[in-house]
Amino acid sequence: MKKIVILGGGVNGLSSAVKIAEHFHRQDVQVTLISEDVSPNTTGDVSAGYWTPFLVEGTSDEKITKWSKSSYDFFHQLWLNGLAEECGISMIPTYRLTSDPEGEEAPLWKDVVFGFTKLNSDETARLSREHNQTYTEGFHYITFCCEPTKFLPYLMKRFLAAGGRFIKQKINNIDEVSEFDLIVNCTGLGSKEVTNDMKCFAIRGQVARIKAPWIYCIFNHTDDDGNYIIPNTNDVILGGTHQVNDYSLEISKADSAFIFNGCKKIIPSIENAEVIKEMVGLRPGRKEIRLETELRRRNAPIIHNVGHGGSGVTLCWGCSDDVLQLTIELFKKAKL
Ligand SMILES: Cc1cc2nc3c(=O)[nH]c(=O)nc-3n(C[C@H](O)[C@H](O)[C@H](O)COP(=O)(O)OP(=O)(O)OC[C@H]3O[C@@H](n4cnc5c(N)ncnc54)[C@H](O)[C@@H]3O)c2cc1C
Repeated sequence: MKKIVILGGGVNGLSSAVKIAEHFHRQDVQVTLISEDVSPNTTGDVSAGYWTPFLVEGTSDEKITKWSKSSYDFFHQLWLNGLAEECGISMIPTYRLTSDPEGEEAPLWKDVVFGFTKLNSDETARLSREHNQTYTEGFHYITFCCEPTKFLPYLMKRFLAAGGRFIKQKINNIDEVSEFDLIVNCTGLGSKEVTNDMKCFAIRGQVARIKAPWIYCIFNHTDDDGNYIIPNTNDVILGGTHQVNDYSLEISKADSAFIFNGCKKIIPSIENAEVIKEMVGLRPGRKEIRLETELRRRNAPIIHNVGHGGSGVTLCWGCSDDVLQLTIELFKKAKL
């Protein structure tokens, strides 16, 4: 029997675990997931699960478009097929706005989403007046939110149903799992310690969750000091910060002021909303997403799937397509 271990039970580890366990179900392959923590204590649990590529500039647009398309299509299928409530998936209109004097080129992924349109100058001017901003350009399209607090338990259920087994444990070094034939590394920021990957760094993000059931639309101001408002099914997320190499998990009063003041400029009625909680998470930043096989002499090969920055939910399903592909290739080449 071949033994595969996936390290990390966040959105990327669980997506990879589901793909591998379902592919090898009822074959002579044992699939194990080992993770220090799972939902609601992963990075994804802080996020709104908004489908949009963000903070992954070092990875090619072609890869981002391919991976994000696979996730978009997957969320759409779950949404169509009666799993929206269980997985926390909603289809939402979004405004993407910039005040950059040079505007913004339409992203390569524009053909992935439904109804991508550039706003005309009248509409950009109206939103500038409403938000007290000087937007130079904007786009409108339909996207999905896939809420990790619901999506991760769904993935875990699917993984266990496909015969996978789960062990809650911290791994300090990759060699602690040397009894396995293949290691899939999805430890996010933990990869810094587990595989000594010095290209990983934290991108701190602070957000607030409020009760505002009258908001059904995403506003995403994409400039460096921009705010965003993202509805989830039970609350609305106000954001947000992205502080590179900042490892503080404390709520910062300055960040709270930036978030609330900025979001109230976009939708003044936020003033009346009850604040449910404020949260901080550390996005797993990396110069480039690492999705590749590392062959090691005398040791089990490792497939790395880490460094998804602010897009882990957006890219999870597409990246796990590639993880499965790399796994199948290793089996074919008898490297296992
Ligand atoms: C404020 C904020 C907002 C965000 N908003 C969005 C958004 O709207 N859309 C989007 O797509 N993305 C968003 N993100 C980014 C997204 O949350 C991350 O990219 C994603 O969660 C990364 O998933 P992951 O599985 O790679 O890593 P993680 O979620 O960090 O999971 C890593 C897993 O590995 C385990 N682990 C780590 N080290 C070890 C170890 N030594 N031994 C055993 N287990 C270990 C951890 O316990 C965890 O289970 C946001 C992030 C933040 C912080």
